[in-house]
Amino acid sequence: MKLNEHARFSTICIHAGQEPDPATGAIITPIYQTSTYVQEGLGQHKGYEYGRTQNPTRMTLERNVAAIEGGTAAFAFASGMAAIDAILTRLEAGDHVLVSDNTYGGTFRLFEKVRRKFGLDFSYVDTSNLDLIGPAITPKTKYLFIETPTNPMLSVTDLPAASAIAHERGVRVVVDNTFASPYLQRPLALGADLVVHSTTKFLNGHSDSVGGIVILKHDDDVEWMRFVQNAAGAILGPMDSWLILRGTKTLTVRMEKTNENGLALAQFLDAHPKVKKTIYPGLPSHPHHALAARQMRGFGGLISFDLGSLEAARTLLGRVRLMALAESLGGVETLISHPAMMTHGSVPPERRAALGITDGLVRVSVGIEDIDDLKEDLAQALDAVKG
Ligand SMILES: *Cc1c(COP(=O)(O)O)cnc(C)c1O
Repeated sequence: MKLNEHARFSTICIHAGQEPDPATGAIITPIYQTSTYVQEGLGQHKGYEYGRTQNPTRMTLERNVAAIEGGTAAFAFASGMAAIDAILTRLEAGDHVLVSDNTYGGTFRLFEKVRRKFGLDFSYVDTSNLDLIGPAITPKTKYLFIETPTNPMLSVTDLPAASAIAHERGVRVVVDNTFASPYLQRPLALGADLVVHSTTKFLNGHSDSVGGIVILKHDDDVEWMRFVQNAAGAILGPMDSWLILRGTKTLTVRMEKTNENGLALAQFLDAHPKVKKTIYPGLPSHPHHALAARQMRGFGGLISFDLGSLEAARTLLGRVRLMALAESLGGVETLISHPAMMTHGSVPPERRAALGITDGLVRVSVGIEDIDDLKEDLAQALDAVKG
């Protein structure tokens, strides 16, 4: 179980950060469901003092994901939002963050409704258009916060080029890598300084846990994040840490199948007469297809498609049998949703229109079921849509 320095991705996913349990030899890190640790004498302990500060299951997950993303350290939080909020604690009142427009709705809400009150400033540009980034950076800008691909328009930002623009101006780059997963894209190797995930999605992959993680490469960031994880205390619990550790072991095979099913289903939708438009970075019609092919290992499991009207979308969503109507993504089961009324319901209609989130838009998070069952399900549901 010793990893070579040149161990490859799937081997790292399965083994990195994990030793057989020192007490029993258990190959799987146990769920250390404990709040405290007995000390042998005053000032004598085994490196574990209190459950918020240290937990062996959580720390194993943190070592594992740090290696998967190619960072020096990782810190796990109670949700993706808690992880993003922890990153903001590095900043001070008056600082500015430049954010990808069309960012995850919860991120927008945290920035605008919570952190703005504490003196942070945020502005939003389409980071897939590199020309817009430089002029939007001010002397107060500390982070360029990128989401790629975005939800639900699947717009892709060139990470090496965007990072170079930010770094020239002394700005650190944060990437929310939730939608891609580290199998498709490793932002730290592409120039980013900090990576954040909602582990709720592809990293856990089984729709049975909510969590978040921050992966870092600069020592000053690592020191602060270690401090603030304990000081603010939004830690991930041992049970969830264990579930995600189990999830990362199968990340490679799940993502390979996700890529395969994603492309096949996108091609099926693209060819279907009742579908007005299919948005998937793997289709040559996607405006960022070439960039996605260069930057990502496969095109992932998120597909958006337009049926032209709310009525058509409602019919389809009422007819699918295998696909579950639900928010979230990245699980082994296929989920289908209506961005305008679900994930983006709180976005004002004019802003939705500007982003291209029409009432006929439907989003699928493709799971790893048999592709023929997925196609059959969509085909019979599309039959009911008035053409
Ligand atoms: C789900 C999600 C989040 C928030 O994560 P939670 O675990 O739900 O708090 C942040 N960013 C993206 C891109 C997401 O999909």
